[in-house]
Amino acid sequence: MTTRMTLPKWFDAHTHLRQDALLSPIIKSQIDMGCYAILAMPNTKPPVAKVCKNDLGEYWSTEEYREKIQNAGGDKIDHVFTPLYLTKDTTTNMIKDGAKSGILTNIKYYPPHGTTNADHGMAMDDVLKTDVFKAMADNNVMLNIHGEEHGLKSTDYFDKDSTAEDIFYREKMTRLRDAHPNLKIACEHVTTKTAVDFVQTSGENIGATITPQHLLYTVGDLIMGLKYHLFCLPVLKFEQDRAALRDAITTASNTQFFAGTDSAAHTTKCTECGCAAGCFTGGIAPQLYAQAFEDSGMDLSRVDHELMFKNFLCFNGPDFYGIERSSETFTLTKSPQNVTTIPTDEGDITPLPLGLGQDTISWSIKL
Ligand SMILES: [Zn+2]
Repeated sequence: MTTRMTLPKWFDAHTHLRQDALLSPIIKSQIDMGCYAILAMPNTKPPVAKVCKNDLGEYWSTEEYREKIQNAGGDKIDHVFTPLYLTKDTTTNMIKDGAKSGILTNIKYYPPHGTTNADHGMAMDDVLKTDVFKAMADNNVMLNIHGEEHGLKSTDYFDKDSTAEDIFYREKMTRLRDAHPNLKIACEHVTTKTAVDFVQTSGENIGATITPQHLLYTVGDLIMGLKYHLFCLPVLKFEQDRAALRDAITTASNTQFFAGTDSAAHTTKCTECGCAAGCFTGGIAPQLYAQAFEDSGMDLSRVDHELMFKNFLCFNGPDFYGIERSSETFTLTKSPQNVTTIPTDEGDITPLPLGLGQDTISWSIKL
């Protein structure tokens, strides 16, 4: 019998909607994969780094970005979170006033020069000296964190036993958590056993998103043939790290780990001297997550395994963010689906499997 799962619509707790001509096709790809809620990252150009138009700095405001998203089709999504980009211009008054007005719910920490359009970020040591995190905790503003140490020499950045993420979670996250135990933190796109251990030993104020690519692949997949469509940040890791991620989501009691695709479109992924970071999984992420559960040893025709999948995809994220679970449903079926490029006025976007030479995936979706 064909395995079929009827699932509540889900929350993509980490995605990049981009801007201008990309905004509307990307929002459509989120709706097409059953999202009723999304968290849209603020690393636009300029970044979304002020709450109101009158605040300090040559940035977009949360208000403006929300308006753009609504006008590009986002009004069909029930919950759109637009975090503020944490910069040197983020003040405690902005946080207090933004939270009071209801506009500011989340703030995103990027390490300086961490990933695409991330050069406005601050060093964690510097933020820890300010009152920003205290103001966030006092005003119930959640922190979304890209947990990688910056400015490392190459052997510390990525080596067999330790990476920039390991260092950040060992040294910075423990300090942050202990200094601000009441701050709610979503650890974005965790990729290492170190980060998984940190989350699991940190209590219910700490949650984490995991991407499809970090569950499906390891660094070997990236290197064999130099498949640059698999290049994202944090970079894919080794098998013991992937095993820790898979264990985390296939534990029956999991409440802390949830879906966040980090889907990030690039119309030009590769340049003459490098490669943009990000995997695009718009339209197909639930199907890829289902595949990842199967690759982790789950049989999704079994009720208990399907429940673990639902917890990860549909329940834990909304519960952590305090929004109601969706009452609408969509269906995933274990039957092949074709994957095609998404045309935009800025050029085609290539979904991850196509970039790896696969034009079909093993699960299909129906809304
Ligand atoms: Zn991201």
